[in-house]
Amino acid sequence: MKDILEKDIQNNIPLIARKDYERHIKIKDITLSDKKISIIAGPCTVESRSQIMDIAKNIKNCGATMLRGGIFKPLTFPYGEPLARPDAGSGLPEPDRLKILSKKELYDNAKRRLSFLKEAGEKYGLPVVSEILYADSISMMQEFVDVFQVGYRHMFNMDLIEALSKSNKPILIKRHYGESLRSLLGVGEHFEARGKHDIMFCERGVAVAHTHNIDSRAIIDIQAIPALKEYAPTVPVFVDPSHATFRRGYVAPVSRAAIAAGADGLLVEVHGQPEKAWVDPLQSLDFKSFEKLMRELNAIAKILGRSL
Ligand code: PEP
Ligand code: MN
Repeated sequence: MKDILEKDIQNNIPLIARKDYERHIKIKDITLSDKKISIIAGPCTVESRSQIMDIAKNIKNCGATMLRGGIFKPLTFPYGEPLARPDAGSGLPEPDRLKILSKKELYDNAKRRLSFLKEAGEKYGLPVVSEILYADSISMMQEFVDVFQVGYRHMFNMDLIEALSKSNKPILIKRHYGESLRSLLGVGEHFEARGKHDIMFCERGVAVAHTHNIDSRAIIDIQAIPALKEYAPTVPVFVDPSHATFRRGYVAPVSRAAIAAGADGLLVEVHGQPEKAWVDPLQSLDFKSFEKLMRELNAIAKILGRSL
């Protein structure tokens, strides 16, 4: 990694680069360890109570560690926003999708869907992970989620970094597809410098000139896994094969490669009826493919002296 210099380690990332540091990451009753690989699975977005209940049950049966479910979605264009469906989860007819909700409507809707996520996580013994977009939503979200995900669009959002540093939940930070590891390590150091140590990194692909298919978005930087282990040896490294590849058929091969390369976990999208998913229907795995993937990952983990 030619952009990380020896003087960076001493001057810019002294905390994140510590080697002999005991980093305690406790997520409900799970304590992360080098021996254990964590699989975070679930839908791109929480659509209804029955949807998230069904997904939680199925991923738990396959051995997943945590449940992910998007509530606040940072979509590229405003009109596909699931939260613009005030009926979300109620089974009512689809309303005007061009409507932009007021903050109050947005938060009321989010609270309802967060309660479905929490209920599903509690019922099936899965801690829950969800993305945060607004610093002023922390106290509300904290009642429902066990891990805050910071999406790639927000990795440099200082309002979020400041506010999340004071929260009592671990943080999963995604690397932007155009950002160097040096930048990601810098974001980690921003948290560390503010006394927030229960942080995790997530590689979700880098943008390159070609990505094989018009609809696959980024390429997972497999080398980022050992490189992050070199420069931030105590920070768990996750990989998101779903948002990088954007293609269902690529998710399992890339997941296997990530675990083989030493990733500490995955963030993978799973849906009961992937083709009907409100968001990201092209990349979500169905239960059968997720079950097969989990069996394969178990075998790979075993060879590496780890377990799922
Ligand atoms: C997500 O995980 O749902 C998501 C939107 O991720 P990203 O920030 O990587 O696009
Ligand atoms: Mn998604």
